Amino acid sequence: MDFAYSKQERRFQKELHDFLTKEVPTDIKSRMLGQIESESGQAFQRDFIKKLIEKKWMAVSWPKEYGGQAKPAIEQLLYAWELSYFHVSPGQTGMSVVGPTLIHFGTEEQKQTFLPMIARGEVTFCLGYTEPNAGSDLASLQTRADRDGDDWVINGQKIFTSGADRSDYCWLAARTDQSVPKHKGISMFLVDMKTPGISVQPLITLAGYRTNITYWDNVRVPASRLVGEVNRGWYYAAAALDFERIALFPWGRLEYEFDELVRYCKGTMRGGKPLSKHPEVRKRVAALSIEMSAMKLLAVRAAWMIGRNRIPNYEASMLKMFATEFQQRLSNAGMQIAGLFGLLPDGAPHAALDGLINYRYRYAVMPTFGGGSSELMRNIIAQRGLGLPR
Ligand SMILES: Cc1cc2nc3c(=O)[nH]c(=O)nc-3n(C[C@H](O)[C@H](O)[C@H](O)COP(=O)(O)OP(=O)(O)OC[C@H]3O[C@@H](n4cnc5c(N)ncnc54)[C@H](O)[C@@H]3O)c2cc1C
Repeated sequence: MDFAYSKQERRFQKELHDFLTKEVPTDIKSRMLGQIESESGQAFQRDFIKKLIEKKWMAVSWPKEYGGQAKPAIEQLLYAWELSYFHVSPGQTGMSVVGPTLIHFGTEEQKQTFLPMIARGEVTFCLGYTEPNAGSDLASLQTRADRDGDDWVINGQKIFTSGADRSDYCWLAARTDQSVPKHKGISMFLVDMKTPGISVQPLITLAGYRTNITYWDNVRVPASRLVGEVNRGWYYAAAALDFERIALFPWGRLEYEFDELVRYCKGTMRGGKPLSKHPEVRKRVAALSIEMSAMKLLAVRAAWMIGRNRIPNYEASMLKMFATEFQQRLSNAGMQIAGLFGLLPDGAPHAALDGLINYRYRYAVMPTFGGGSSELMRNIIAQRGLGLPR
């Protein structure tokens, strides 16, 4: 087996990297601001999408009939990786979660309507799975959808609906049959967020990242917006979660954080020599570098499976768990190496890496939860990967 990227893949990666180096502001502050959740980040991303479309770099691996470029899945991975390294990942949820799931399970009308819009970056999505009493045990969800004429009427409450305040549609899980075992009565919907009856309340996390509580009060959704077949939503959500675990987390940002930490170690003097000359720092950074290579291989494996039309399942959980826990180890290392300077936030004089270390340390708490907790990932790996009993 050859673990190296092919010539064509390396050429594509370099072309992307050169383009992004030219187009994306380089200082750390603007990259932190460039995050998808901030106002300025949003405006930048909207303009940036136009440039990506000009380059034919949206929906890299999708079929041409749905507005894609039909390139190998590995190129899609390289694309997502490079973009997230530069902290610009426009249309990410649509492109990597909703789109691929619709390609597999959507009705022809849904594919024709939504996929070209997603490919052109014209539509954004939030994910409406979690409820106050249904997180890890998602099949217990209580939000219900009742058929009324040509519509479904949705009532309930969701929590942690990230991006609900700025998305065009919600990829929503709701119960469509109360009488069958819980995972057999769920359907997925594409709900226009402007529909009357939806209200959104902010929920601010430790790193300042905004997620939301959403309330659904007699929200009428046309029957054509029920994804695929009725009561098959559990299976669609499971596939979408696998796609999310591979693609939604911006792994390239970890490489960026690592590179910045190395830069910090080389440029910061402690005890009369750069941090990078201290044996304990060198060992720590070398271990992180090895872990990052392992993380990349797990990502390449998942992309390789997608390229063969297989949906990675426990393989997606391996990547998600390893990468998000690596993220915490990386942030911990940054905080310990920078010492008290790491505690200082952006704007404080002497803040290590302009507050990047402080910010990433707080941010790293969330990803081991969002998209499914590490414990759940371990259960999946044990049962489906290793065949261990429940
Ligand atoms: C910042 C943030 C953003 C998010 N964004 C979204 C979003 O956009 N859309 C969305 O739908 N959801 C989102 N989530 C929700 C996320 O997917 C859930 O938090 C996650 O699935 C866990 O559910 P829970 O919070 O209810 O915790 P619980 O399920 O109550 O879990 C509590 C603890 O118990 C453990 N546990 C539970 N069951 C088991 C088990 N069977 N075996 C072992 N341990 C177990 C868990 O690992 C965890 O440590 C987000 C969460 C956060 C924090």
